[in-house]
Amino acid sequence: MKIFNTLTRTKEEFVPLEEGKVKMYVCGPTVYNYIHIGNARPMIVFDTVRRYFEYKGYDVNYVSNFTDVDDKIIKKAIEEGTSAQEVSQRFIAECKKDMAGMNIKPATKHPLATEEICGMIEMVQDLIDKGYAYEKNGTVYFRTRKFEQYGKLSHKNLDDLRSGERALLVSGADEKEDSLDFVLWKPKKEGEPAWESPWCDGRPGWHIECSVMSKKYLGEQIDIHAGGEDLVFPHHENEIAQSEAANGKEFARYWMHNAFLNIDNKKMSKSLGNFRTVREISEQYDLQVLRFFMLSAHYRSPLNFSADLMEASKNGLERIINAVDNLKHLMGVAAEVPMTDTEAEVFAKTEEFVKNYEAAMEDDFNTADAIAAIFDLVKYTNTNVSAENSKECLQKYFDLIVKLSDVLGLIVNKEEELLDEEIEKLIEERQAARKAKDFARADAIRDELLSKGIILKDTREGVQWKKA
Ligand code: AMP
Ligand code: ZN
Repeated sequence: MKIFNTLTRTKEEFVPLEEGKVKMYVCGPTVYNYIHIGNARPMIVFDTVRRYFEYKGYDVNYVSNFTDVDDKIIKKAIEEGTSAQEVSQRFIAECKKDMAGMNIKPATKHPLATEEICGMIEMVQDLIDKGYAYEKNGTVYFRTRKFEQYGKLSHKNLDDLRSGERALLVSGADEKEDSLDFVLWKPKKEGEPAWESPWCDGRPGWHIECSVMSKKYLGEQIDIHAGGEDLVFPHHENEIAQSEAANGKEFARYWMHNAFLNIDNKKMSKSLGNFRTVREISEQYDLQVLRFFMLSAHYRSPLNFSADLMEASKNGLERIINAVDNLKHLMGVAAEVPMTDTEAEVFAKTEEFVKNYEAAMEDDFNTADAIAAIFDLVKYTNTNVSAENSKECLQKYFDLIVKLSDVLGLIVNKEEELLDEEIEKLIEERQAARKAKDFARADAIRDELLSKGIILKDTREGVQWKKA
């Protein structure tokens, strides 16, 4: 399997650190608003990468954080007259609903920055002890020039960076040893959330959060670190400097970055105000259409959002769903007889489409070509099946289309959705588990429902549910 590695700027053969296992960290969103569809691109892309590894038999440990302490969250809390924690908790819950709607598997672990402060203080201290960091008036900075490989991910030259930075400096006001040094820990300002530390009451810098959470949940070395291409510099460059200086070993083997989702050929972003939230899109389309749209381009190509492309995606997805519905209908009327040799021969030709599908995915996750292979399979199926076929044969076509779509996270067999009675039964089981203080089981049921797009709300009148 080939992966384009930002570090070497080449497609490299994927070799896991440990046979049969993949350790993967994906930088998650800063939670102060509903996520926009630009944020959804890395979520969908890397969930698909995970699903493909799982299809290949790998055991994937997938960690993706929520940045729940940040200037923007604090600003929003002040505007609303509430706490930063209330804001971040609210938008984490909303984000999880959107993720469920887009059929994104919950990560093995979704760490929250605010729950990992101890580890951050430890790593900052470690960096100070090793001479890679220093404190000035309560702020701790990373001594960038000491990390000789700085710039290796973004392919930037340290001297060029430094002269560029110097031009931007406000005269004399700087307390840093070097303009490229970046913050690991900063003192609190009035009204901000803060934690005690050996340097001052304050909070961590953004970059240290990911270095620490990745180390805690995946170890000092991981296979893949991923995010949007705007994170290459400085976020990922700084993560590498911190982690490699602290741990003395290579941090991540492969660095994967998705290109931007644009609108009118400009990056969609909260700051430009040109964004559409996933929630808005869900009012117009099934979020499976959004997922299809994202996967219809290669993840390293810019993708321009447009109504036309969304309509095309809707039609594309319907082509697959219609084939699956037709197979279901035929299976309902087909004879329960064994598959004939002729049927087996005709079905064997689908192997070619599977081969094309896998070749596309093995080539740096070319989902656009993988979808094209599914279309070919759908076309072949439509021309070769009829009510004359055995049920066993029809089932094989059905299973294959559903399986290949599922690896892309596309739900094409709508009946897989839970029936109302099944939901009620699971809610009852959850209530019983809570009563018995089996909170792990109760949470597992809530998560299972969430992954199927069912949101629970505990109210005074009992538990209510709705579809995301
Ligand atoms: P943020 O909440 O801004 O930290 O972003 C969370 C994730 O979304 C990061 O991996 C970003 O790189 C990614 N991201 C943000 N905007 C876009 C966009 N317009 N297109 C693709 N990825 C994006
Ligand atoms: Zn990160």
